[in-house]
Amino acid sequence: MAHAHSVLDFQSFSSQTLSAAEVSLIESSVEQFGAPLLLLDCDVIRSQYRELKNALPTVTLHFALKPLPHPAVVKTLLEEGASFDLATTGEVELVAQQGVPAERTIHTHPIKRDSDIRDALAYGCNVFVVDNLNELAKFKAYKDEVELLVRLSFRNSEAFADLSKKFGCSPEQALTIIETAKEWNIRIKGLSFHVGSQTMNPQKYVDAILTCKQVMEQVVERGLPALSTLDIGGGFPVSYSKHVTPIDEFCVPINEALNELPETVHVIAEPGRFIVAQAMMSVASVMGQAEREGQIWYYLDDGIYGSFSGLMFDDAQYPLVTLKQGGEYLPSVLAGPTCDSIDVIAENVMLPQLDNGDLVVGRMMGAYTSATATDFNFFKRAQTIVFNEEAAAQERMIG
Ligand SMILES: *Cc1c(COP(=O)(O)O)cnc(C)c1O
Repeated sequence: MAHAHSVLDFQSFSSQTLSAAEVSLIESSVEQFGAPLLLLDCDVIRSQYRELKNALPTVTLHFALKPLPHPAVVKTLLEEGASFDLATTGEVELVAQQGVPAERTIHTHPIKRDSDIRDALAYGCNVFVVDNLNELAKFKAYKDEVELLVRLSFRNSEAFADLSKKFGCSPEQALTIIETAKEWNIRIKGLSFHVGSQTMNPQKYVDAILTCKQVMEQVVERGLPALSTLDIGGGFPVSYSKHVTPIDEFCVPINEALNELPETVHVIAEPGRFIVAQAMMSVASVMGQAEREGQIWYYLDDGIYGSFSGLMFDDAQYPLVTLKQGGEYLPSVLAGPTCDSIDVIAENVMLPQLDNGDLVVGRMMGAYTSATATDFNFFKRAQTIVFNEEAAAQERMIG
């Protein structure tokens, strides 16, 4: 790990509360299943999907499985009519098991083994992404079955993950790939990009869309077959500790830029974090405690190597709250259970005095949390408990 991981600060605790309904859900879940837990509310998945769909009415949404590859999420989104964005054979197997029709999927990993391509094709997914000629050559063997997207790179130092450092090509390289594909009789369907995860500024999408528009025009000028698809990727932001622009407002300039494209261009997106971040709550319990250098250390049964792995791999600041409220608040540390010293979740936070067994709840724990968790030191990952899996007339349980 090149950088020190982030530790949650006081901001993450201020102004956090739990509703009476949430408290009773948390308490009854821990009574039934023990701790640590992740509580997944499928109704939040539904409402986030619908919100993004309303904000991008002309765009087909392919949920990117990577941030939360859970069967209940796939099932819920399938019923909502969503499409899916796959990157690995494991993800292909997960959507296949849930009965997702292959026509509703695309495979967007820019670098693949031949076996990855064959597994996706065997399932029926035939749209793939390339960003270089070495990768393009892998598709000579499958040229009659596949349609490809060429991924462009747009650097973004502000995002949680600048996905254009590792993947994507320049507009000039894209044109070379498209020309070479014509020589090799491989169909190019369109262009794609990912402006970076948790992108706060919609202008990043606007600039990328307008550059793609120019590339599409150059394709026609060079006498190559016109491109029919633009994939604007994921990256749509959610509010952790900082407020972010509501999604409908965020998407206004994006829709304006999309309106500049020829009507024949079908636009798709690959949202991940936006759909799932708000849908999970973490619940950890205090295993033990000690006083060290004027602070009370609480050792929880979940930490950096578990559900809070996003503090290492993502840059999220999860809002935390203790079930116990009131009494005297003292400077405290929340540490994870493993014997490693980097396993600290929050330092210098003012907490009520907790007893062993008391619960600490994290909000916004749906994206890049359990997905990147480990069983290090034999501390088993938190169990995920699913709520509202049936789309009845229920209420969101998690606010
Ligand atoms: C991770 C990823 C996504 C999802 O990105 P979010 O920032 O979570 O929306 C979409 N597409 C690709 C290719 C990805 O790698």
